[in-house]
Amino acid sequence: MGDGFRSERGAAAASDAARLTVFGRALGTGNGWQEARAARERERMVEEQLVRRGITDSRVLDAVRKVPRHRFVEEALRDRAYGDHPLPIGEGQTISQPYMVAAMTQLLRLGGTEKVLEIGTGSGYQTAVLAEIARRVCSIERLPGLAAQARRVLEELGYTNAVVRTGDGTYGWPDEAPFDRILVTAGAPTVPGPLFQQLAEGGRLVVPIGEAQAQTLHLVEKVDGQMRTTTDCGCVFVKLVGRYGWEE
Ligand code: SAH
Repeated sequence: MGDGFRSERGAAAASDAARLTVFGRALGTGNGWQEARAARERERMVEEQLVRRGITDSRVLDAVRKVPRHRFVEEALRDRAYGDHPLPIGEGQTISQPYMVAAMTQLLRLGGTEKVLEIGTGSGYQTAVLAEIARRVCSIERLPGLAAQARRVLEELGYTNAVVRTGDGTYGWPDEAPFDRILVTAGAPTVPGPLFQQLAEGGRLVVPIGEAQAQTLHLVEKVDGQMRTTTDCGCVFVKLVGRYGWEE
């Protein structure tokens, strides 16, 4: 399967729901054998969805192997948590498809010592993947309900190097700047100016840019203070809504 066009929205199709229903509630709570089953699902996801499609960064693969994705979706959707698709997380937002999370994280080229800014916490899943690899993750979510839920799960799972704030992330997080890496997990019309300003020299910023309905993943590097931009695959994210994003 190519890496072409991946839908983050509306693609939470029920195609593999039937296959996974047998595991159903099994992925739900925290007891041992259920978690073991989730770990096996995760291993399969890594092999079939990530390795097979060219994700090679071992830090990224290890992080995805480790983070219990099922804990970031509501109980009723847990049997689909390891499927090859985004899933709804409420308030019209989605948790990204596993491949997209891995591809964006790989584009950041994390070595382990970085301070990372994430815009669009959503479920907090991508935040956890980043926190597995980076030194510190600062994440901003516009919707207070989602931010509170993400904070709760990240805390339950023991991520002490990730902080979640509610607000318009297109302004960045000036008090914590500069950032070695910035990841925007919502689609923007252009690169939000404050984010590039808050990117450290030599830093990398990954952001979906394009129309409201479809975008292209952009990698922006800061070289001698200048923007150097390259494009990656097509993608479909929910809108980045804010001062330097889309109007509501
Ligand atoms: N990374 C998330 C995916 C989130 S979907 C995950 O793994 O679950 C994109 C999120 O961006 C939504 O939750 C949406 O509310 C949020 N968002 C949109 N515009 C924003 C803004 N200006 N600042 C912060 N968050 C924003």
